[in-house]
Amino acid sequence: MTEHLSQATIVALALLAAAVISLTVTSCGGDEEPSTPGTIRSAAEPLEEIYLPPPPPPPGRAPDPPSAGNAVDDTLQLQLESILSAYDNEYQYGIITELASDRYQGRRTGSDGARAAAAFIAAEFGRLGLQPWSHVGLDSYYHHFSGGGLEDDNIIGVLPGSNPGGAIVILAAHYDHLGMDGQGNAYNGADDNAAGVATILEAAANLRSLGYRPADTIVFCAFSGEEQGQVGAGALGRLITDAGLAGRVEMINIDGIGATGGDYLGVWDEGSAAAAPLVATMSQAGSYLGTTVINEGTDIGSDAQPFAWEYGIPAITVDWDWGSNPSAYHPYYHTIHDDAGAIDRPTLARATRVILVGLWLRAYS
Ligand SMILES: [Zn+2]
Repeated sequence: MTEHLSQATIVALALLAAAVISLTVTSCGGDEEPSTPGTIRSAAEPLEEIYLPPPPPPPGRAPDPPSAGNAVDDTLQLQLESILSAYDNEYQYGIITELASDRYQGRRTGSDGARAAAAFIAAEFGRLGLQPWSHVGLDSYYHHFSGGGLEDDNIIGVLPGSNPGGAIVILAAHYDHLGMDGQGNAYNGADDNAAGVATILEAAANLRSLGYRPADTIVFCAFSGEEQGQVGAGALGRLITDAGLAGRVEMINIDGIGATGGDYLGVWDEGSAAAAPLVATMSQAGSYLGTTVINEGTDIGSDAQPFAWEYGIPAITVDWDWGSNPSAYHPYYHTIHDDAGAIDRPTLARATRVILVGLWLRAYS
């Protein structure tokens, strides 16, 4: 069909660019081993090999010939169609309904409600067969942090990539929220940010259900401490930096896609040029799906900021139609009325599809 061929062409061009970007990102360390052409895309490396220093791209590497490029693009096209077909809005919305229920008492960092939410997310990671992020020193899904008078856990699970020394793509969303008000009402935080957590779980469930293993490692991360100044994200940025992995990590952070309506996916690059490849990929995903993607600069505060500003790690936050008029499509922001029932599910699906495609475009190769 003409439309499909046209989309495939768009994606082919996008992917060639993404491949070049990926090679650039993964080769920026100063400790490369001698070039070993032919092993960069190997899919059969044992897991122990994944975190070796990245091999540089072969000098003067020419673009793939058209025939090989078309073969790869056809495979990618099928993968993207499968990912979109496997998208389960029921599962995702069920997670939102669960996390935004009163039993989690508004998920305030350090509270019993937040601990219960963390346990729920960790159980889902376990059910999906994700691994602890051992290469930053974690032996469970719990990354305990303290700072600024706070103590809590980020919940982190890994889908290992097949590419030795490849990039590491974090898909993140904060699970903490504001707790209870003085009258005993819970701030349930469906839009802010049960919807984001549900989306990282949907992405993990989606790829696991298809049996897809990306070339780059995908790290699924549910942050705490966001509402108190991105404390959990700051702690993870420090951990990544101390582990020597900062040069290989990038992050797509989701915060505020549970809108009541609206028309575009907002991307916030936090004023960092290093985020340009991530912004470009999300724009490509939007083009593929016919959804507008707008880079809106620096947001009012979310978990991409400590990554970008304190540790120089490329990071973006994505939300849905927030920048021009927040009250239009996020009318219950930081109120006790931010409930699952207020979320427009077709709009949630539009945002999620862009994120699923964007994530795979970053990590598949
Ligand atoms: Zn908030």
